[in-house]
Amino acid sequence: MQILERVEETDIQSARDYVTKAYETVRKRNRHESEFLQAVKEIFDSLVPVLARHPKYIEHRILERIAEPERMIVFKVPWVDDQGNVQVNRGFRVQFNSAIGPYKGGIRFHPSVNASIIKFLGFEQIFKNSLTGQPIGGGKGGADFDPKGKSDREIMSFTQSFMNELCKYMGPDTDIPAGDIGVGAREIGYMFGQYKKIRGRYDAGVLTGKGLEYGGSFTRKEATGYGLVYFVEEMMKDQGLSFKGSTVVVSGSGNVALYAMEKAAQFGAKVVACSDSDGYIYDKNGIHLDTVKRLKEFGNKRISEYVDEHPEARYFTGCLGIWSVPCDIALPCATQNEMDEKAAQVLIENGVKAIGEGANMPCSQEAARQFLDSGILFGPAKAANAGGVAVSALEMAQNSTRLRWTAEETDARLRGIMTDIYRKSVKAASEYGRAGYLTDGCNIAGFMKVADAMIAQGVV
Ligand code: NDP
Repeated sequence: MQILERVEETDIQSARDYVTKAYETVRKRNRHESEFLQAVKEIFDSLVPVLARHPKYIEHRILERIAEPERMIVFKVPWVDDQGNVQVNRGFRVQFNSAIGPYKGGIRFHPSVNASIIKFLGFEQIFKNSLTGQPIGGGKGGADFDPKGKSDREIMSFTQSFMNELCKYMGPDTDIPAGDIGVGAREIGYMFGQYKKIRGRYDAGVLTGKGLEYGGSFTRKEATGYGLVYFVEEMMKDQGLSFKGSTVVVSGSGNVALYAMEKAAQFGAKVVACSDSDGYIYDKNGIHLDTVKRLKEFGNKRISEYVDEHPEARYFTGCLGIWSVPCDIALPCATQNEMDEKAAQVLIENGVKAIGEGANMPCSQEAARQFLDSGILFGPAKAANAGGVAVSALEMAQNSTRLRWTAEETDARLRGIMTDIYRKSVKAASEYGRAGYLTDGCNIAGFMKVADAMIAQGVV
């Protein structure tokens, strides 16, 4: 018994040493990419128990290989604005890992986009896509273009120029982009149209998040938000809790936030606060989602305008303050690192019971650790927001069979997938001595499938 323990300790130490060395290699090669390094560190650290038990991953140098993108494309996006001025932006696509399927991941248009952000998102996407159980690899893309305040013509002009270059690298069996921040149904439509014009053929499965009229899937628009609530409901059920009768705070008011609010309300919760990048609203009687949708989904307006229609609500400038609103469930659905340690502490002091990450990496590593160490239920992004890409994969399946499933059917499949992701993450966490730590569980479950496929396919 003592020998066994000693052997296990040695294995754990070798795994730790390997993780430190592999991370150092990645850090040296990408020293200015803080978001990417943050994501790599979080995942590598959680894999120690797996590497200790399966030294084959160390022998095959899987960590160094998985953290190096298969391909990174950086390109110029020139376009002409409404005043006739020539503008130039920078476009990116990272094709990170294709061990289990073609590259799949969204496109983000936001001024903050750079190589580090695209690589952090692409890296996380490898594990998330694997968790869905669908045959899709990891990728991500975007541009440092700010869609705010742009006319429809400018959006089309930019998006077409973006696609002129990106189309060389994508295809239904190669790389299938979708939406993300700043890229919704309108932008996907313009991208699809331009791709079709350049290629001269109708590849329905080359993009997901398409309109229902031309190959889109029911439930894709709602999928990330609904999936998040399905995941959190499942997590709460295990503790005898539920959305029913709970007070909920959701940050953001974009695609993920809107449909998380919708499903939370359908499950009997009261959503009292949401935000945009300028500030947040608090409506103690429950937010009127139809107003928020009118302002933010269809209106390109500011969330502050909500109080013009609902004077009983209050508007506060600044985003971080939203986490001081007392709630049972907090769903950060806006952007990366939007919740820090201090905000987490306030939520805990106010009695929060569950956190579900709708955005990618919205909680800093310290904030996440604080929730986990305080015994608060914590649904990590990679698992909790995988509903969007899962339904994207269902859209691809419908496109290739030329069938259209009903809304009920896609929604039922989405719920099944989210439940399965939750169960897989719980099982992996407990099998590797990290019971209750879903962050580790989802990293482990997502990693092993991809790593095994990489080993099977040789050094390529
Ligand atoms: P959208 O562009 O539709 O919405 C983003 C929302 O967040 C907007 O309301 C924006 O405000 C707000 N916002 C931006 N920064 C802040 C901030 N610091 N504080 C508060 N609000 C802020 O994007 P999505 O909803 O599609 O994406 C949101 C997150 O979810 C991202 O992290 C994305 O990667 C992730 N995600 C999205 C998926 C999808 O299917 N769409 C799938 C999986 C993950 P404003 O209106 O002022 O710009």
